[in-house]
Amino acid sequence: MPTATQITMVPVVVDNEKCIADKGCRTCIDVCPLDVLWIDEKTGKAHMRYDECWYCMPCEADCPTDAVTVNIPYLLR
Ligand code: SF4
Ligand code: SF4
Repeated sequence: MPTATQITMVPVVVDNEKCIADKGCRTCIDVCPLDVLWIDEKTGKAHMRYDECWYCMPCEADCPTDAVTVNIPYLLR
């Protein structure tokens, strides 16, 4: 799997202002069946570590602070 490098290019974006991973939240990481979300060591917030996604949506739905946005490609909508 390629490592995601540019946040703006990945399908799942986390709003660092809203993310409370620094307070111990791991919900999106726990619910993702592909294990592509992880904690960014620099920011302490969740981010998309691998650019791979099934667009199954629990990360966005279960985030307690609505910090996760899944950008579903037009052809999959
Ligand atoms: S579920 Fe939301 S608040 Fe929790 S780590 Fe993921 S993005 Fe951050
Ligand atoms: S939409 Fe599904 S596969 Fe994609 S990051 Fe969220 S939980 Fe993981």
